[in-house]
Amino acid sequence: MAKRDYYEILGVSRNATEAEIKKAYRQMAIKYHPDKNPGNKEAEEKFKEAAEAYEVLSNAEKKSRYDQFGHQGMNGAGYGGGGNHMNMEDIFSQFGDIFGGHNPFESFFGGGQQRSGGRRVNKGTNLRIKVKLDLKEIANGVEKKIKVSKKVACHTCHGSGAQGNNAFNTCPNCKGSGQIRRVTNTILGQMQTVTTCNVCNGEGQVIANTCKTCHGSGIEQGEETINIPIPAGVADGMQLNVSGKGNMGERNGIPGDLFIVIDEVEDPNLKRDGDNLLYDLYITFVDATLGTQVEVPTVDGKAKIKIDAGTQGGKVLRLKGKGLPRVNSYHKGDLLVNINVWTPQQLSADEKKILEKLRDSENFKPKPGKGDKSFFEKMKEFFN
Ligand SMILES: [Zn+2]
Ligand SMILES: [Zn+2]
Repeated sequence: MAKRDYYEILGVSRNATEAEIKKAYRQMAIKYHPDKNPGNKEAEEKFKEAAEAYEVLSNAEKKSRYDQFGHQGMNGAGYGGGGNHMNMEDIFSQFGDIFGGHNPFESFFGGGQQRSGGRRVNKGTNLRIKVKLDLKEIANGVEKKIKVSKKVACHTCHGSGAQGNNAFNTCPNCKGSGQIRRVTNTILGQMQTVTTCNVCNGEGQVIANTCKTCHGSGIEQGEETINIPIPAGVADGMQLNVSGKGNMGERNGIPGDLFIVIDEVEDPNLKRDGDNLLYDLYITFVDATLGTQVEVPTVDGKAKIKIDAGTQGGKVLRLKGKGLPRVNSYHKGDLLVNINVWTPQQLSADEKKILEKLRDSENFKPKPGKGDKSFFEKMKEFFN
């Protein structure tokens, strides 16, 4: 099924402000919350859909990628970028932000707590690394094996932050329930609010014996070798999101994301212009006059091209499909060969004599005709 537009899902315009997006999502989340719509599959889908849209539109980086590339930009060749990886736990953990520090569902519906186990999940930070690619790799796509230095689960305590037997005590603040109940007076009358215990972070227990390796954080510096499939056609500065491959979160948390930033290595011969490649070819005026066959470099090797007799300098030959592919598309750019006719700058006495003889020949006098574009026409094409 085709994905709906994120702005459409939240019912906001493309230039909605951050506050408007947040407000729209808050309304959707309340309307379609599973605790308000028990057993209603459609409401649950709408709830998830809205959460995914909000996850992207509330993040400046993801939002700009979505604005530029649409859903494709979020899911290039196997990247779980968009937020479609979100599960209920992720969605509920988002609510802290949106509802200003407390989750209203915990008090109004009572369900959010049990559903997410009451535990706040620590999310690790995102990592960003640059990957150098040459034109050939960009043209064909490539799988890069990259060693990433990052926070991983502590090898001693396996991420818990505690060590040995009797590593945990019951939390003295909440007596093990992970929740603090409070009765407050509101305009709707007396309400019981339930919040996550801030001493144990909702876990109901606290560390009694701190792990010596990680000092209780549950994470340590390590590395991971990651295979990253890079689709053909990427460009310098483009960013790919590898979901869940960033730093590990503290104390059995969830990992952040890994962002791959494309660093395009300039090719000595071929210049890139979007999907097209440009090459400056220099030929002698003898070859331009008599015609010849030459080889030009391409991303994968060489291509033979024919120079017609009587070719003028400034003529551009278009080699269809010899350019670069476009990400997630069948479109391929062209290789444009700009023909420069080289005028000799040094001549022997003999060469000079031959040319002097030709100077007044009628055939050597310029006679621009139909096939030759004027400077004006070329500039007009260039700017259109
Ligand atoms: Zn540890
Ligand atoms: Zn507690």
